[in-house]
Amino acid sequence: MRFKKLEINGFKSFSDKTTFLIEDGLTGIVGPNGCGKSNIVESLRWCMGENSAKSMRGTGMEDVIFAGTSNRPPKNISEVALLLDNKAKDGPSQYSELDELVVKRKIEKNKGSKYYINDKEVRARDVQTFFADLSTGAHSPSLISQGKIGQLVTSKPIERRAILEEAAGISGIHARRQEAETRLNAAENNLKRADELRRQQEKQLANLQKQAEEANKYKSISEEIKKIEAGLYYLKLIEIDQNEMCQTQSLA
Ligand code: ATP
Repeated sequence: MRFKKLEINGFKSFSDKTTFLIEDGLTGIVGPNGCGKSNIVESLRWCMGENSAKSMRGTGMEDVIFAGTSNRPPKNISEVALLLDNKAKDGPSQYSELDELVVKRKIEKNKGSKYYINDKEVRARDVQTFFADLSTGAHSPSLISQGKIGQLVTSKPIERRAILEEAAGISGIHARRQEAETRLNAAENNLKRADELRRQQEKQLANLQKQAEEANKYKSISEEIKKIEAGLYYLKLIEIDQNEMCQTQSLA
């Protein structure tokens, strides 16, 4: 897949819609200090799913939205769309029928980011995995920003692993592994919680069984009492009858 076009709207210093055609032979962007060269590279990384505001040189992600100037009002929405050429059909298999793909990220004040692939809303993770499968991405060592070369040279072997993984074309697998690990951890936590709940239910069941036994005992004892009381009433009735008979005999 080849990057063909980058459309930026309301992102950092680009208040109006700006289109960059990424044609054959493009090797760099030149311009005076502060004209927005780094903002272009940042827009690309942001669209690929960058989630660190710090690495976007901001304190919060909404800092990427055009903040206004003395003669231009600030904006509420920032959008970056990247057009990819898939004529060689070397992209992820689910998009093999398409000649072109548009990956878009949009952020709205107080609403957070949304991602789209060909206008269909997707998760940030999907976009990150999509680019990892293409051996690139927001943290790809192939995107060299200011100070990055020095950082690469002095980085630890474990940090350099990303370069080798990307060269071997397994970044996508690595991204999926992380997702699978997160899911496994979540499943393990759920299992622990379920186990805890089971133990609580077992304790409750034991208590209820005890209560049920006591209730049964109470029931049989009260039936016994009722029978004895009935016998007593019967005996009293006989006694009353006998007393009445004695009285009528003595009167006679
Ligand atoms: P240098 O060569 O000095 O690194 P550069 O050409 O890479 O500069 P950038 O750092 O990309 O320039 O752009 C800096 C400009 O972007 C500054 O003028 C800054 O005011 C502007 N800028 C950054 N964020 C915003 C924002 N959210 N809204 C408006 N302007 C912004």
